[in-house]
Amino acid sequence: MKLPGILQPILLKEALSALFTGPYTLPFPKKPSEPQKRFRGKPKFDDEECVGCGACAMVCPANDISVFDDVANKKRVITLYYDKCIQCGQCEANCITEKGIKLSREYDMIYFDRSQAKTTVEKELVLCEVCGDVISTRDHIRWVTKRLGPLAFSNPTLMLTALKDAKVLDEIPPRDKDLEPGRHDVVRMLCAKCRRRIQLGA
Ligand code: SF4
Ligand code: SF4
Repeated sequence: MKLPGILQPILLKEALSALFTGPYTLPFPKKPSEPQKRFRGKPKFDDEECVGCGACAMVCPANDISVFDDVANKKRVITLYYDKCIQCGQCEANCITEKGIKLSREYDMIYFDRSQAKTTVEKELVLCEVCGDVISTRDHIRWVTKRLGPLAFSNPTLMLTALKDAKVLDEIPPRDKDLEPGRHDVVRMLCAKCRRRIQLGA
């Protein structure tokens, strides 16, 4: 292709200056490159600050965060997959504790094994003493209890959590499974459904 005559001196100048200034491209991956201050990179859970509520999974537009309740082992596993994440920041913006997940400035998310392209956080599950359904994670119940302050004492599940954490109360003896659920179960760890049925008969 023949270039118009007017462009040739410009290109020649560019070529010559490139000889002395080096390439325009960054030397990554040979040398790490510094991302912009507000760059949205790899999301990371903070095990201390995350309470395992699962709100981030509900707001993720890429459906990238999974919440798996391993009831047999009383464990909730929350997994975020880097290969589907679009770094939108919705998980961070909607985290109930505001610190449970943060987008780091790390941009290198290349994996040869897809099973490694993920990060997980695990939390202890609390189950209803009557029906065995999941109430939530222990940390999530604690977080709600703390937020409510004295109001938490209006709900026996939260009250028991607060008293046990304050070491005012030891373990409550397990309920007799042969007994029909009733008023004697009011002061127990109950899911919302059983609480309504037992307290209100609804
Ligand atoms: S940054 Fe966006 S896409 Fe990635 S996990 Fe969070 S909400 Fe989902
Ligand atoms: S505390 Fe935040 S990061 Fe943890 S599960 Fe809830 S919303 Fe997600």
